[in-house]
Amino acid sequence: EKSSQQSSQPVLQNPSSNTLWYPYAQMQNLELNLEVVEANGVYLTMKDGKQLVDGISSWWCVTHGYNHPELNQAMFEQAQKFSHVMLGGLKNQVTESFAQKLVEITPDGLNHVFFSDSGSVGVEVAIKMALQYFFNQGNQNKTRIVALERAYHGDTTACMSVCDPAEGMHKMFHGITPEQFFLPAPTSGFAPSEDALEKEIAHAKTLFEEHGDTIAAVIVEPLLQGAGGFNIYSPEYLNRLKALCEEHNILLIFDEVATGFGRTGKLFAADHTNISPDIMVLAKGLTAGYVGHAATIASTQVFNAFLSDSPSKAFMHGPTFMGNPLACAIGLKAIEIFERDNYLEKIATIESILKEELLGFEHDEIVETRVLGATGAIEVKEARFHHGIQEFAAERGVWIRPFERYIYTMPPYVITPEELRKITQVMKDWFQRER
Ligand code: PLP
Repeated sequence: EKSSQQSSQPVLQNPSSNTLWYPYAQMQNLELNLEVVEANGVYLTMKDGKQLVDGISSWWCVTHGYNHPELNQAMFEQAQKFSHVMLGGLKNQVTESFAQKLVEITPDGLNHVFFSDSGSVGVEVAIKMALQYFFNQGNQNKTRIVALERAYHGDTTACMSVCDPAEGMHKMFHGITPEQFFLPAPTSGFAPSEDALEKEIAHAKTLFEEHGDTIAAVIVEPLLQGAGGFNIYSPEYLNRLKALCEEHNILLIFDEVATGFGRTGKLFAADHTNISPDIMVLAKGLTAGYVGHAATIASTQVFNAFLSDSPSKAFMHGPTFMGNPLACAIGLKAIEIFERDNYLEKIATIESILKEELLGFEHDEIVETRVLGATGAIEVKEARFHHGIQEFAAERGVWIRPFERYIYTMPPYVITPEELRKITQVMKDWFQRER
């Protein structure tokens, strides 16, 4: 019986759905019952007409809501001029203007923008840039990157090498991806005691003292580790980390793919700190979730290491769609709206509602509830606890997608208090349902 089961072909429960290979999914059992036919504001409309409030902004990127008339207009107007043109050897105004705008709004010292097409590639670019920064100065020893345990930086090869090596979704690739160093994730929260902070930063101090001459860069998701479990830590940790990096000639990379554009309550997580990273990566909210794009922004010090009479010091990277004019036109308009409509105020309201609704919420299954900016998460003891929650939420008009031990919301910023409370209520009702 057993051996015949093992040798038989897998039976596809839903054969019509397996032409399209879905992300992070065991395709053998995949059954998708929700089909989107339209999306407006914070609502996804399903084929059966049902509307769901999007509690996670389509993987955290749809900051301004769906089908935004002004973003549509910006995209349409640009499409009528040219929707794409290569950046190799040709310049164009909208891409130049977007780079200029990003330099204006990002922390001081970040002055040079390299575009690419997704967050993962933006991180790859940052890592490659950090390595070549040292190679260009004749230093071939600095070839290692330091990351935090619980980190998530994307799914491509260099990105996987800096994702959590023990529990992370890419652990099976460790040994194949470049070997890196990991620091324990700081876990003492947004405002740690001095003692706790000293202990956390001591790990970096020891590692840098021992291996600093082989380390090119440290990469972190500043303040909020997202896919690694919504771990919130302090601006002071980052201030201290930067000082240590400077002492040991190590670059500091902020992966703000998830935290950028308001998610932590300020425009960038870096704005909570006193420092600027040497390299910052933006994606997701960069185009308000309209099209894939990323920006890797370097300090003048980093950029200058690539200047030379010799072509060999140039940065040899150039994704086909880098600086895509549609992405840039949408991105420019998205920032204009963010500033004009005071999105930081909207995010502050979201944060206070999330705190009110989630922070005091207790249940035997809950380890901790955490809120920062427009992110609210409930950590449960066991992943199996939330099996079925997606259907439960959808029946009640809410779209959320928990993973591992985390039930969370990262809503679009245009959400109303009533719509947001609907999401948090569904999250809480799940714990209080009759079983
Ligand atoms: N870095 C962080 C912090 C992320 O959260 C993500 C995506 O969730 C990525 C990088 C990868 O971005 P992308 O999915 O656009 O490749």
